[in-house]
Amino acid sequence: MLIKDITILDKEFQPVEHTNVLVENGRFSYVGTKEVTRYAGAFISGKGKVMMPGFYNTHCHVPMTMARGLGEGLSLSDWLTKKMFPFEENLKGEDCYYGALLGAMELISSGCVSISDMYFHILDIARALDGAKIKANICHGLSSSDEQTKPENLKGWKDTLTLLKQTRQRKDDRIQVDAGLHAEYTSSDTLVRAVAELAKDQGLIVHTHISETQKEHRECKERHNEMSPVQYLKSCGIFENPVLAAHCVYLENEDRKIMAKSGASISHCISSNMKLGSGIAPISTYVDDGINVIIATDGAASNNNLNMMEEMHLASLAGKGAFHDSTMLPPAMILKMATVNGAHAQGRKDCGVIEMGKRADFIILDMDKPHLLPTHNLLANLVYSAQSSDLYMTVIDGETVYKNGEFLTIDRERVLYEVTKRVNRICHRKKAKVREC
Ligand SMILES: [Zn+2]
Repeated sequence: MLIKDITILDKEFQPVEHTNVLVENGRFSYVGTKEVTRYAGAFISGKGKVMMPGFYNTHCHVPMTMARGLGEGLSLSDWLTKKMFPFEENLKGEDCYYGALLGAMELISSGCVSISDMYFHILDIARALDGAKIKANICHGLSSSDEQTKPENLKGWKDTLTLLKQTRQRKDDRIQVDAGLHAEYTSSDTLVRAVAELAKDQGLIVHTHISETQKEHRECKERHNEMSPVQYLKSCGIFENPVLAAHCVYLENEDRKIMAKSGASISHCISSNMKLGSGIAPISTYVDDGINVIIATDGAASNNNLNMMEEMHLASLAGKGAFHDSTMLPPAMILKMATVNGAHAQGRKDCGVIEMGKRADFIILDMDKPHLLPTHNLLANLVYSAQSSDLYMTVIDGETVYKNGEFLTIDRERVLYEVTKRVNRICHRKKAKVREC
């Protein structure tokens, strides 16, 4: 694939005009201003377009697209116990397969090339995302409050090992497996320690929710002798592994030191945190601490979309507004959080930037739009003005998955049909509990 005369964001996320980009064998084989003569096929004209790295959505529950709009206006605990859990009780593996494909369509059509997902029925989710050809770090969010339950007897534990075996037999790394721990407040001590051991034994990233709400943070301290969730998880060995922690709205000074020292990443889910009334994480402070801060959507049920462009916009604005500083979280920093920082959090070291030799995961935006002119500052236009409808194409590992409104790896009509049919079935069965349907 050859893209001629396009403006790209280079590895420092600075615009470089009139660039030619050659993609071969899934990687950028040439990025520069010289003419590329060795490619004989049709080329893509970059006139009026911008190429940048695709987005890494580092905290998602992708089948929750099926619960989008369910239980609006409730408290987090009522939303979970009265709406989400009854809905999820009736989800089968094949439901999650189609829910994941619905999410994958939304993701790739808004420029996402890779997600970190936590849910259940992970074998079905992996099959869906693999078929859609989107990169994914998948985990089962393990939970068990019963100290007597042996972690290895949990279905999610078995599924994690099965998926791990499957992925290790593959030649590619599109699907990776993380060790999932739903959260401190849904886990027994035995389970937390077992997940820490599993990650250590298998060399996995631990993906978990941490300090999402003040209530969760306070109750953890009451349960665990004044230890915060970060401090408690550290005492169980979790931070001896790479950690991908969603939310972290209420970190204490000691927590921040632990996270910075261990090299953990914080997945900032601004839409979800605001929508559920959880608060606004001081991510600029975390960046100053040296923590790898990244951006994510969370599930579509608490967002209510999977659009990383909207998350970038909100992350910057909410931070500036909440902490009274218009100079914080500038566009280049936000763009890195949504791309290369996320790739590194997923352990995908050769991804996330447009540079010769790196993996060809990128998006092209059509900038010939009224709301994108003039170009005083391209990065500001990308973060504050661009819309997902400006997306021209999404390419993952050198393969085009979305172009000009067409999904090239997913049967759009089939997925929409299946999701509608399945949601009707689930809601009919639980009519008394899930009335919105
Ligand atoms: Zn979450």
